[in-house]
Amino acid sequence: MKIEIIELGDRKTKFMLSGVTQAFVNSVRRSMLAEVPTLAIDYVNVYDNTSVLFDEQLVLRLGLIPLTTDLESYILPSECSCDGEGCPLCQVSLTLSAEGPKIVYSTELVSADSSVMPAEIVPIVKLAEGHRISLEAVARLGTGHDHAKWQAGIACGYKNVPRITISDECDSCGMCVDTCPRGVLVNADGTIDVANEHACSLCKLCESVCELNKEGDVIRVGTCPDSFICTAESDGSMSSTELVTRAVDNISDRAKALDERLSTVG
Ligand SMILES: [Zn+2]
Repeated sequence: MKIEIIELGDRKTKFMLSGVTQAFVNSVRRSMLAEVPTLAIDYVNVYDNTSVLFDEQLVLRLGLIPLTTDLESYILPSECSCDGEGCPLCQVSLTLSAEGPKIVYSTELVSADSSVMPAEIVPIVKLAEGHRISLEAVARLGTGHDHAKWQAGIACGYKNVPRITISDECDSCGMCVDTCPRGVLVNADGTIDVANEHACSLCKLCESVCELNKEGDVIRVGTCPDSFICTAESDGSMSSTELVTRAVDNISDRAKALDERLSTVG
């Protein structure tokens, strides 16, 4: 297996995996979406709410706010020694108190742990003159398996690495260059060339617009069966690099657990 980093950002990472099966790449994608734990508000004590939103609507909005998560400091309630009752190891409290007129943003949540903060500036509710909200929210770790609010990966996907071939019969008419929506092809000194193969979305518009293609293969868009371009985007609760490494670690741990279980059966 070979890994090549294409783009490395805090929230988004793009890399190429070669020498693997589609099943493997898909397992990494699924692990990023459903297996990496992240903090999210799980229940709320509403002390006062005279806003236009019902308590339930307000709490739903709070649950979907991404929170910065340090997975070294917190553990899943199901694995905690408190048996999920709630303790500083498995939950953190955030309070919110606001009075109108104003728009209340996620940044007004006051956390008991300075490392757990809203990762995004999210508008929660618009308060009119005299409207008030006062509440205490409790955030816990969970996984995307249980609820979308615990999904640390938000845009995780992959595609086969495109392979574009242009034969010598090409008359360099340039139709494919003009048609390609992603600027993959260029006309360099009267010769059609592939400039940015990874950007190809496999739409095959270049194939359909080429007049010569009707008689034979002049331009063909294919894929590498064992190479994939993967994209991982985090919701801000952790870096995209941590998201990928934790997803892969999770697969490795589960594979080891399965191996151990099978060895006892044999
Ligand atoms: Zn606990």
